[in-house]
Amino acid sequence: MSKQVILSFARTGVVIVGGGPAGLAPLLAAHRHGRLADLLKEGVTVVERSGAIGEGSIGQWVIQSDSTGFTFADCLAGPPGSELAAVRSYPLTKEFVEAGDRAVPLRRAGEFLALVGEAIHKLVATAPNGRVLNRHRAISTQRTSTGWLTLIEDVESGRELTIESRDVVLATGASQPAERLRSEIVAGSNLVERCGQRLLQSSEVLSASGFAAVAARLSGLGPAPRVAIIGGSTSAAAIADALLHRLPGITFGAGGVTILHRRPLRIFYPNAQSALADGYTEFGPEDICPISGRVFRLGGFRLDSRELIMQARGIGGRPAEPRLQLHRLGLNDESSLALLDQADLVIAALGYRPRALPVFDEAGRRVPLQAETGPQARLVDDHCRVLDAGGHPLPHLFAIGLAAGFVPYGKLGGEPSFRGQANGLWLWQSDVGGLIVDAILAPCFDEDYLVEASALAGLGEIKATQEFEV
Ligand SMILES: Cc1cc2nc3c(=O)[nH]c(=O)nc-3n(C[C@H](O)[C@H](O)[C@H](O)COP(=O)(O)OP(=O)(O)OC[C@H]3O[C@@H](n4cnc5c(N)ncnc54)[C@H](O)[C@@H]3O)c2cc1C
Repeated sequence: MSKQVILSFARTGVVIVGGGPAGLAPLLAAHRHGRLADLLKEGVTVVERSGAIGEGSIGQWVIQSDSTGFTFADCLAGPPGSELAAVRSYPLTKEFVEAGDRAVPLRRAGEFLALVGEAIHKLVATAPNGRVLNRHRAISTQRTSTGWLTLIEDVESGRELTIESRDVVLATGASQPAERLRSEIVAGSNLVERCGQRLLQSSEVLSASGFAAVAARLSGLGPAPRVAIIGGSTSAAAIADALLHRLPGITFGAGGVTILHRRPLRIFYPNAQSALADGYTEFGPEDICPISGRVFRLGGFRLDSRELIMQARGIGGRPAEPRLQLHRLGLNDESSLALLDQADLVIAALGYRPRALPVFDEAGRRVPLQAETGPQARLVDDHCRVLDAGGHPLPHLFAIGLAAGFVPYGKLGGEPSFRGQANGLWLWQSDVGGLIVDAILAPCFDEDYLVEASALAGLGEIKATQEFEV
């Protein structure tokens, strides 16, 4: 007897796979622009393998955010009296608004997004032809003559279902695959072979249990342990910040924590004048966002990570932080390898790879995706369309979220010199999510339409990382 049941409720609508922050983002982008009712009319189904939508994995990290409290709360922006208006006056929302331009603990950000998720759950579930399928895992999606057939599984009963829809949005988050780590070469040496048991990935360190395990491991080492962090992204700086400021029982000596990075470590400034007033001159016209005038808007460190890197670099009169050493890779391999060899713990903060979903064509053949072709290959194009291995967009299949590879361009702003990907919620909840909403609501899907799709000014906060590049 077949385990499969065809659900017809989503036949003409959109399936969002993954109900984390990115899965909610197109809905929030639609809400921001007064188009949520239109989107819900299409028939939206959200498939989420955990018990609730909204939080995803962001709340599990023990660090502070590198986007501001206000930026998180701004996801509720929209017309007065709009569907999510009531959530704006929740105490937690007010707390985030009051945090203003300060960082917030990501644990709290997770709680806030869970509340937003609860409100969105109600809206989707009460819309005609709308469903939220918690505790359901998507297994694959297959092209049909009219859209996509997505195979899902009830994680409790194991029952399989398929959903037909015109559009699919993949928002399945990202991971740090062990295979990628195994092939990582630093200063000419294979990282895994060189560091063995001393090597951890940043995601293992930043969870509450992982951080406690690191604390226990370091405290068992005696005085002045040494940690080497490889990576030039916000995760690398956030780990250094957490080690230096959240482990009162551990005493690091001078240079006890080292960040080994390949790219220069850039500092965000709201404008060129304030950078120059700080004596910060490491930028040119290419490093300034033409829309907002911000310096290193995408590639610069922000908030707590910014403070720490400024201290370590002696910028802006910050007090020195002798416990943190910055080491540029690629200049002297011997000294880089010595730092790795002397470290008690080596943490690879080398970014994430998108999870996506296995995709099949109409004939049932697996479609390899561009993201599978290399350690830095993007999952999506400039319109959030999933690309096959040949670089061709798959019709009506979109992706958004951590490591999907979206790079802001044109009216979305950002410094022209930026190389990397933008992994900030605000951008997904406004301009990037807006691109997907525009495509879904376009009366007739047309390849050229997306080129014209409206991209807003993008003046808000964007947290960007230079993932996959150290
Ligand atoms: C350490 C760290 C700090 C960050 N700090 C910030 C910050 O301060 N500000 C900011 O804006 N951004 C930040 N980000 C970036 C980003 O906002 C978060 O990573 C966010 O959690 C990404 O959301 P997501 O939906 O892409 O992925 P996730 O949060 O991982 O959510 C994915 C969801 O999809 C579900 N799922 C996965 N596979 C399936 C499947 N097959 N079927 C059904 N459901 C599935 C999961 O259960 C999960 O709920 C940070 C990222 C990291 C790693």
